[in-house]
Amino acid sequence: MGRVLGAFAYGLWLWVSPPMQASDHEWLVRVGLERQAMGKEIFVQSIGGAFRWVDIETGRTLAESPPNRLWRVAADAQRLLAEPADPAATQRFTPTLLPLSVRRLRAEPVGDALMAVGSERTRLKPFRGAMEWQPLPQHNGKLLTINWVRLDDYLKAVLPVEIPPRFHPEALKAQAVAARSFTFRRLNRHRDRGYDLCDSEHCQLYGGVQAEHPATNRAVEATAGEVLWYNGRVFEALYCGNCGGHTAPNEQVGVGTIPLPPLRGVLDWDEQAGRYYCDGAPNPRWSLTLSQDELQRAFPTVGRPKSLQVLERAISGHVVRLVLEGDRATLEIQGALFRQRLGTTRIKSLLFTVEPDGNGWRITGRGSGHGTGLCQWGAQGRALAGQDYHTILQAYYPDTVIERLTSKEAEPRREGHRGSIEREGGAQDTSRALPNSE
Ligand SMILES: [Zn+2]
Ligand SMILES: [Zn+2]
Repeated sequence: MGRVLGAFAYGLWLWVSPPMQASDHEWLVRVGLERQAMGKEIFVQSIGGAFRWVDIETGRTLAESPPNRLWRVAADAQRLLAEPADPAATQRFTPTLLPLSVRRLRAEPVGDALMAVGSERTRLKPFRGAMEWQPLPQHNGKLLTINWVRLDDYLKAVLPVEIPPRFHPEALKAQAVAARSFTFRRLNRHRDRGYDLCDSEHCQLYGGVQAEHPATNRAVEATAGEVLWYNGRVFEALYCGNCGGHTAPNEQVGVGTIPLPPLRGVLDWDEQAGRYYCDGAPNPRWSLTLSQDELQRAFPTVGRPKSLQVLERAISGHVVRLVLEGDRATLEIQGALFRQRLGTTRIKSLLFTVEPDGNGWRITGRGSGHGTGLCQWGAQGRALAGQDYHTILQAYYPDTVIERLTSKEAEPRREGHRGSIEREGGAQDTSRALPNSE
């Protein structure tokens, strides 16, 4: 209690923390900063404004920190400890209040302040939203930082990774709505660990404010809270780099096993221009030669490969199944597995042909990525042809509607993605189809 009185003496105050909830279209995402801020000690400071230390269990503000003051957070037995990283500063600043030691601790920015965190005092990265710490009992005193961030602020940080920010604003808006819908459907992917998504490639690379770009930020703001709905639920709007001319039915290209009605495949053809909308992609066609050795390494059970043929194609032309005959066995291979074993950067898409070529096989293909859902280069082509983002989304996801998230949608979030597509990597592909450096 002496500490609390001390707080008053130093101009600090107690207050009940407002519950971490936002208005209807401001869903909060809990991102486990596994890459950026996990370790035995975490460093934190705010930029551009103050922040408050809040005891989550009681909701009390324990202290308010001025901007740019560096703090250290560590686990002490079963409690959390926060103290100024520079001990000299402690003497000058509210000595009776520090260190803070509680079970669950949150740092909440005041106003528009950003929270910079990192596991080394020199490597802090700024993030929007609040920070929370939890000890990882199985990790010997290690702490994990959880970033509570508005869904749209999360999107601002991940969108430039998904699509080149130089794309047409309507293409960026279409991508923002698709990514928001897809992200929403995966919000409890790491529920067992106490957060929604991680910050690594497993969920989606998330680098905070530094990853943002003004053009993609504008697309997020222009479509604030908008998602695609199908059959009364938010739709998991998958997308690919370049469909190659016709998008593919999701289950036939290995994206889940349940056929999703809006993802039956659409012709990406511009009638007026007489070409595919995605023809503007930098490398629409690709080819390579697979040697017997390479194929044998990928599928060793067949022995020495003798023949490779396409067995089945989707309506879009994407390869569904191949047959590989070797001197020891004959194997039927799903197209997606074939691509995965040989490398998704080598076999860029499933839209390819196979021809014998000396002792190997010539693979000639079009497009990039899994080929289902919104085609990013097609969206760009459509936007350049004058289509707005509503028209673009209707083209790639027929029978869906665009509406804002509402509180009703709390249910699917808790229910999780049972029955929905569960795969590693993002909506797009494990290999990025569209490097920003292009
Ligand atoms: Zn993850
Ligand atoms: Zn396309």
